[in-house]
Formats: sequence, structure tokens, C-alpha cells
Amino acid sequence: MKFVEIKNFTKDLISWQREQGRHHLPWQKNRTAYRVWLSEIMLQQTQVSTVIDRYQLFLKRFPNVRALAEVSVDDVLAEWSGMGYYTRARNLHKCAQVVVNEYDGNFPSDPELLERLPGIGKSTAAAIAVFSYGVRAAILDGNVKRVLARLWGVDADLSKSAAVKSLWAHAEQLLPSTPDDLVSYTQGLMDFGATHCTQYQPVCMSPDKGACLFRNRCQAKLNNQVELIPLKIKKINVQQVHMDWWIFIYKGKILLEKRPETGIWAGLWSFPEQNLSHKNNAEKLNVVKHVLTHRHLNIQPHKVLLSAQFKKINANQEWFNLRDALKLGLPKPVSSFLKSLDLIHGDV
Ligand code: SF4
Repeated sequence: MKFVEIKNFTKDLISWQREQGRHHLPWQKNRTAYRVWLSEIMLQQTQVSTVIDRYQLFLKRFPNVRALAEVSVDDVLAEWSGMGYYTRARNLHKCAQVVVNEYDGNFPSDPELLERLPGIGKSTAAAIAVFSYGVRAAILDGNVKRVLARLWGVDADLSKSAAVKSLWAHAEQLLPSTPDDLVSYTQGLMDFGATHCTQYQPVCMSPDKGACLFRNRCQAKLNNQVELIPLKIKKINVQQVHMDWWIFIYKGKILLEKRPETGIWAGLWSFPEQNLSHKNNAEKLNVVKHVLTHRHLNIQPHKVLLSAQFKKINANQEWFNLRDALKLGLPKPVSSFLKSLDLIHGDV
């Protein structure tokens, strides 16, 4: 793949970041590897506005990597509740344990070593190395791929490894050489992708947002291809899934069940999916809809008020009062459902 020369790209992006980029995000202060790592993982599939609050709460609960390594994975999942993509939380916990056990609690500075840690990909490893240790390394997350692809008019399928390999090589060539510039440049790429050259309605396509500093050099803009790059790949098949929730309530307590370690919401607490009472006195509540990446869930809740507790429940089931239940690792629809206080207050 050939890349045309875009004059002063690196220099102009650095100046733009210093003048117009983001400087007050909580993870931009005191950039230790732990803080940068945590923010990078949280930001992978969650919006900045949500991460800002959750990041501070997470740090309050687990102020350093040792504090995170020594708790149970259930505690980490509980703190992660509602953020989705729970593999991230499980990997955070595993990674913290490796850093404590193998690196005496200090994240390595070498991107190749960072990349071997659980849940850390090549771009995240580079971000930690740049921001925490001033190591010269290139980032290439989804936003940066889009920015570089548009600027250099790359209309290849970016799900193919050959195209991504070329972009990595190009991203490395663009790096500035001094550590100070490196931090502004890397932050600049992130800021530019998040606020300027966004997936939908980038600045150059929305006149009210002002002008893009690269409008006269951007290949996608010059060739009228902004909406075509990056190339849209085939839509993923979305599966419709029906699920039942059995909401057993007895004297202010609700029966919850820990889900298996694989599959949807692995290791989190939810409602039993079978009618354990084997009676027909359940009340059908409104269907809950929830969208996951590959699945659309249609959940039918059945409410059952019990006059006596079950004699036997499974090892993965437990009775909780509402307050304790809300402290568990819960998928978002389950916590929202539990918080619908009418259900609980009206009935127990
Ligand atoms: S001109 Fe448009 S597509 Fe090109 S870098 Fe600027 S915002 Fe992105």
C-alpha cells in the first residue's frame, strides 16, 4: 500500500492538540501505568461521558494494582456492573494479578511485554508505554484507523490483516521523536478521532462545526470519499433470543442465580430462567428488550410471590435483599429491573 506525503501532518496535529485538544480528562492527570491502563480498557467499548464517573469510582475502590489484584473477581464484576463487555473486567483482574506476581506490582514499559498481559492489545500497550513511560510506540485503535484511512485515502477492507499491517507501519513512521511531542501527538490522534474526524458527521461534512485543519490535504475529502472510508464491511448477523426471567419474591428477598462462566453475561448474577415453583400463579410483566453485539434479547419476566421459601435451591442460587443484590455483579437490564422499585416495594 502506498501512502502519499501529507506535509506537516505530525507537526500540525501536535499544535492542534495543544490548542484545541482535550486536557482535562481525569486520566490525563498523574499518568501512572495503572491509571492509563484502566482508562484505556474502560474506553474500549464505553463512551467517555460514562467512563468519566465510573473511572473515578473504580479508582476510589481499587486505588492501585495491588488493591485490584487481591480482591475476588466477583468484587471487580460488581464494580463494573452496568458497563457491559464483562470480559474486560475479568481480564482487568487477571492482568492485575500477573502484574503483582510477575512484575512486583509495576507494569513493564516495553510495549511487547505489555501486550502479553491479559486483555491488553497492541494499541493499548502502546498508549500505556507512551503516556506513562514516554516510550516511542504507535497507537492504532478503531478511531485512529479511521482517521489515518481517511487522511491517506485507504479504501481497503480494514478487517484484513494485510491492510492493517500497512497502517501499523505507516502509523509508526508518523511518530515524532521527542517524548513531549509524542504525548501530544498520541493524545492528538485520540482527540482528533473522538471529536473531529468522527465516524458519523465529521467536521468536514458538518459546516456548522467549523473547518478541518487537514481539509486541503485529506485524500478522502479531496476525492469525495469521506463517507466511503473506512470501507463498511458486511453487517454481522444479529440473532433474536428469547429468555424468561423468573422473579421469585419471598419476604423482601429475591432469588438470584449466578450465570455460568461462559456465554451471555458470564459469571454475573441474573434471575433464574426456569419456573422453580412449578405452579401457575406467576404474573407476566412487560417484556424487557436488550441489545447485545450479536443478539437482540427479548426477555419475558414472570413475577411469583411466594408464601414459603423453596426447600432446596441450586448451589449457584441465593436469596438477597434488594440492597445486597444491587451490590453484586449484575448485567445492566437486571440492575435496571431491580431498581424498578414498584416491583419490589409494591410486593414485599
Ligand atoms: S477533512 Fe474530514 S475526513 Fe479528512 S481528516 Fe478532516 S474531518 Fe476527517
